[in-house]
Amino acid sequence: YTQAKSLVFSKFGEPSDVLHVHRHSISPTLPDGAVLLRALAVPVNPSDVNTIQGTYGVKPRFSPLLGTPEPAAIPGNEGCFEVVSVGPGVKTLRRGDWAIPASTGFGTFRTHAVAEHADRTLYRIGGDRGTAGLTPTQVATVSVNPCSAYRMLRDYVDLISASVSAFSQDPTTPGGAWFLQNGANSGVGRAAIQLGALWGLRSINIIRERPTPEETESLKSELLSLGATVVLTESEFLDRAFSARLKEEFTRGGKDPVLLGLNCVGGKSASAVVKALSPRGTMVTYGGMSRQSFPFPTGPQIFKRLRFEGFWLSEWSKENPAEKRKTIDEIVELMREGKFKAAPVQDVEWSWETEEKTLRQAVQGTLDGFRSGKGLFVF
Ligand code: NDP
Repeated sequence: YTQAKSLVFSKFGEPSDVLHVHRHSISPTLPDGAVLLRALAVPVNPSDVNTIQGTYGVKPRFSPLLGTPEPAAIPGNEGCFEVVSVGPGVKTLRRGDWAIPASTGFGTFRTHAVAEHADRTLYRIGGDRGTAGLTPTQVATVSVNPCSAYRMLRDYVDLISASVSAFSQDPTTPGGAWFLQNGANSGVGRAAIQLGALWGLRSINIIRERPTPEETESLKSELLSLGATVVLTESEFLDRAFSARLKEEFTRGGKDPVLLGLNCVGGKSASAVVKALSPRGTMVTYGGMSRQSFPFPTGPQIFKRLRFEGFWLSEWSKENPAEKRKTIDEIVELMREGKFKAAPVQDVEWSWETEEKTLRQAVQGTLDGFRSGKGLFVF
């Protein structure tokens, strides 16, 4: 029997109040089509906290089957697992492979899992090249943030053609369309910067000021080195002078349009994204980190003919399973080739002895700002 430990919750609330450790054992006899997994690395994403709080778009089902005193759910949507053993009838996975959940809601905050219908519910990582050159951290964080950034940059506006066509009209000046994003230091933001740079796109990136000017400058340089074209603080972005700067410094009087805005933050920052969009621009909202909503201003909507979209990876993945797989495979290969860096993480060691309090705190801390990286359970 394998001894396993999970984080579980039986009611919605703050992670530090409602999360508990549940210990149980797993039988060595696996059902048809199932595999036994061992966790290697599991990130804590903002949506995991929202799910535990009960404020996320989909509510988990509290199941009586986990062997907990009350029906419970295991939080966590992504993670890198190693296949420990394989039940009869499994075709795509072998002992020693690395796998990630194929869709959200898997419940990844646990040391071990039995995944039923493994050929359908898991992706084997790495294709013919296996896991050589990959780390559990990269694999654990590929399916949510980089995948979201990839789809948002590609599925709403054809920025690549827009960049090329603007450039070819005036080949003497490097130019072309821009995308602009707030929350640029988030996992999604950093992924968008890097993918954008790989695809030849120019980006204006908005970050929150750090506690000191030196830290702000250092973050700016870090994002520039990832491939950002311009990095500005929220106060530079919200300043009255920004409109003129956008026109004169960045867009050649509007010739290089800002066609896509990615909104991670909401509130005033989102309103400023709307203002910065060029005619026929599209704003895609995917997060609300400030917990503030923003108005859809009537004038710009009509006179600039703007488009407002919402992106939700979970639904997109259900509708496009084959594309999801391709997107992940492509990003994994970029990681392996050293062309794509995983976002920084703060490792939280999860061993048999780790106290419940430590694990709970790691989840609770996710929505604190100015962190050096998101929490990552390492096993
Ligand atoms: P990370 O944990 O990597 O980063 C969180 C970011 O939010 C940090 O950059 C932080 O800024 C910023 N932040 C926190 N509080 C505030 C605030 N009050 N105002 C402005 N910025 C703030 O996040 P992820 O990349 O994993 O996720 C970012 C957002 O995207 C979340 O809302 C998440 O739910 C959403 N998301 C949505 C998806 C979808 O399908 N719709 C898919 C993936 C993510 P700082 O760097 O300054 O600390």
